[in-house]
Amino acid sequence: MDYYLKNYTYSQLKDLLKNILAKDKSNLKEDFFNYRVDQIFNWIYKKYEDKIDNFSDLSKNFREFLKNNFEINSLKIYDTKLSKYNDSIKFLFKTSDNEYIESVLMKHPQRYTVCLSTQVGCNVRCIFCASGINGLKRNLNLAEIIDQLFLIQKYIYMREKMRITNIVYMGMGEPLFNYENLIKSLDIFTHDKAFNISNRNITVSTSGVVDKIYELAEEKFRVKLAISLHSPFENKRQKLIPLAKKYKIPQILKAAEYYFLKTKRRITIEYILLKNITDTLEDAKELVNILKNYNFKVFINLIPYNSIGNIYLDNVLLEQSDNESIIQFYNYIKKYFEVNVRWSLGRDINAACGQLRRQLINSI
Ligand code: SAH
Ligand code: SF4
Repeated sequence: MDYYLKNYTYSQLKDLLKNILAKDKSNLKEDFFNYRVDQIFNWIYKKYEDKIDNFSDLSKNFREFLKNNFEINSLKIYDTKLSKYNDSIKFLFKTSDNEYIESVLMKHPQRYTVCLSTQVGCNVRCIFCASGINGLKRNLNLAEIIDQLFLIQKYIYMREKMRITNIVYMGMGEPLFNYENLIKSLDIFTHDKAFNISNRNITVSTSGVVDKIYELAEEKFRVKLAISLHSPFENKRQKLIPLAKKYKIPQILKAAEYYFLKTKRRITIEYILLKNITDTLEDAKELVNILKNYNFKVFINLIPYNSIGNIYLDNVLLEQSDNESIIQFYNYIKKYFEVNVRWSLGRDINAACGQLRRQLINSI
């Protein structure tokens, strides 16, 4: 049996209780189990309660049973950092095996978005990304993905009575390489007995794991998909994203097109702006050229690079683009596609993925 209650989706928890309890109470009806799971989900996911003793509408026996078999939290908040503009909070979590993962809460007046991690480290190893530098340690389990949202939601509910409305899978790790837990986490986040977050408000970001994009298109969730493209040129992209050697740009965009046709959700293209590497007018023109070949509605997110130290590509230092280059790039793209520059919230707290963990690991 799995130790953490949050490792079970609604239907899995029901099956588990049936298996355990039906042994001696074979006359129990379906409603009995539905009701028990409703109660448990209600305490955890609606009231953000993490002490089984406080599940006050459960019988003492049933609470004892739960306490003897399960834990609620799989993560502990190890550190929080508030950005000086007050618009984002970075959370560093510690896992039970002493790994560190991070998530960010981004506050907009109308929506609270959480950026989630799906792995400890990442084996895609993009050269500009702090999460990939030391490769992959392990996948997060379901409870650890859920707990990032749970603990942030609890934290913010206690202080501001606010609810999280949006989720982006843009923290550490490649979500499509932890596919099974990604799908189960979507089940819990969107479930009406749990967080009940609308699938329209959830974005899964991928470096381009083609076969899994097709699989995701067949799921019932119809979440938004973001593709980390970063360059329209195959050679350059392969240098930036080592995994790209396996999945080529046309294959990825074809899969994104399929995803769009299946789900009708606009595709986001993520594009990192690196000075003199990806930010020239030639890059912008080619980006427009290749995207025009596909039958999807697209939204382009330009991401100014957040430096993670002295890293070079073909002897060129990775640096953030100048404002003029960013504006030039933006103005060109704007003529063809919807586009936005994502000035990252919380730049001062190292909000780009994996940066806080890396700092901590380097300091201990
Ligand atoms: N692995 C997935 C999702 C997590 S990374 C993916 O790559 O899509 C999400 C985004 O973080 C990527 O699009 C990447 O552009 C951005 N990112 C990573 N390191 C960054 C950095 N140093 N500065 C700015 N953005 C960064
Ligand atoms: Fe992994 Fe995404 Fe970072 Fe690339 S950008 S190393 S895919 S987490």
